Amino acid sequence: MITETFSEKETFELGYELGKKAKAGSVYCLDGDLGAGKTVFTKGFAAGMGITEDVSSPTFMIVQEYDGGEMNLYHFDVYRIADPDEMFDIGFEEYLSKEGVCLIEWSCIIEDILPENCIKIRITRDPSKGFDYRKIEIAGEPD
Ligand code: ADP
Ligand code: MG
Repeated sequence: MITETFSEKETFELGYELGKKAKAGSVYCLDGDLGAGKTVFTKGFAAGMGITEDVSSPTFMIVQEYDGGEMNLYHFDVYRIADPDEMFDIGFEEYLSKEGVCLIEWSCIIEDILPENCIKIRITRDPSKGFDYRKIEIAGEPD
């Protein structure tokens, strides 16, 4: 599926819709350049899950945990990961097996250790279509 957004708000709303439909145990992989809108999408996604806490990019932490009432959101930003092995040190496998939703910004960095059935979301800019334009490709469905 390909969606085009023309503002931060529209990307937030797309995230919100997906967050509403998120199922326990699913893994969402978010990729795109710095400033593409991964965190904007994540904020919407978290709101859609019913999370009221403010979601920010986990700059110093690789993973941040949010209580969504029904289920938790585990928000990863693996930008600073130099070696996928570091993910095992923080207990990545345990997070994957939890009854919550994992969302991973910069998932391409840990591509080799991603589970098979994750939902892939790629955000790209196209300067010819304007400063606030984003193409958002979504592949895979929560099962
Ligand atoms: P990332 O997490 O991918 O590095 P952020 O979500 O932190 O990026 O930042 C995206 C930036 O782009 C924000 O400053 C936001 O206001 C801006 N922006 C402009 N247009 C859009 C859009 N269509 N969707 C998402 N963000 C947008
Ligand atoms: Mg970010």
